[in-house]
Amino acid sequence: VLPFLVHAFIYRAQSPAALPTFLLIGPSGAGKTAFLTLTECNTPANTHTSTAPLAIDALLPDAHPPSSASFRSAGDPAYERARRFLLLDTPGHGKLRRLALAQLTSAANIRAIIFVVDASSVADEAGLNDAADYLHDVLLSLQKRYTGAKTSKGPKEIPVLVAANKLDVFTALPPHVVKVSLERAITDVRKSRAKGLKDSGAALGGTDDGLDDERECLGEGGEGPFEFRQMEEVGTTVDVQGGNVLGGDGSDVDKWWAWIAEQL
Ligand code: GDP
Repeated sequence: VLPFLVHAFIYRAQSPAALPTFLLIGPSGAGKTAFLTLTECNTPANTHTSTAPLAIDALLPDAHPPSSASFRSAGDPAYERARRFLLLDTPGHGKLRRLALAQLTSAANIRAIIFVVDASSVADEAGLNDAADYLHDVLLSLQKRYTGAKTSKGPKEIPVLVAANKLDVFTALPPHVVKVSLERAITDVRKSRAKGLKDSGAALGGTDDGLDDERECLGEGGEGPFEFRQMEEVGTTVDVQGGNVLGGDGSDVDKWWAWIAEQL
């Protein structure tokens, strides 16, 4: 089943007439599938062209005009076309992460990445570290894609939305705290990865010139604290926006829609 799922993404992401693709990534339980379902419900049934369970052909809600067609009016064919996008879910389980990521970031028409994180689970160290570990790898893949862009066909610049979900839960951290917590935890991930690389280099008895290490290291040479801002140097802006897909008072993901609209 797994190779099939991966192929399903690749197929969807690379088919020539494909819509701009937004990739949903994040730890298991963050709310990716819930967001996919919500989007599907917002989208009139006749626009569905996909039967694959992991991808939906989605429509931006009326309240959010796509930025590329904001001067046009609803009903205008160009406007209607610009509202459409593909939302692609990915499995959040540990072993599948790297496989999915490596292939997906090399696909041609990924417009943007939505990293969904449970804002209450990052309140504890284990949840935070798991999310930071995954987000680190997502950002490192984007950095490698950018630095190796000569060979890749797709757009070099892929923005990331960190969607801090479940803000309805009372233990959820506010988005700005989610942001600094993730930055701090990614700093630690980067440090331990760098140490791992160094140790394995020493074990091999190599006198490496540090070039590979540099390429492997996220952000500006890996010195000091990591900040999302550093990703701008490699063509990736990272925004953190809160929301809740579910919850007692209904869903509120307006900030995510607004962000998606900006990318369309
Ligand atoms: P995935 O593994 O990332 O696809 O996560 P799911 O979409 O399966 O969601 C995991 C669990 O979190 C499910 O029980 C959802 O009902 C719940 N969930 C998702 N979004 C929210 C939210 O905004 N608020 C609350 N309270 N629960 C949510």
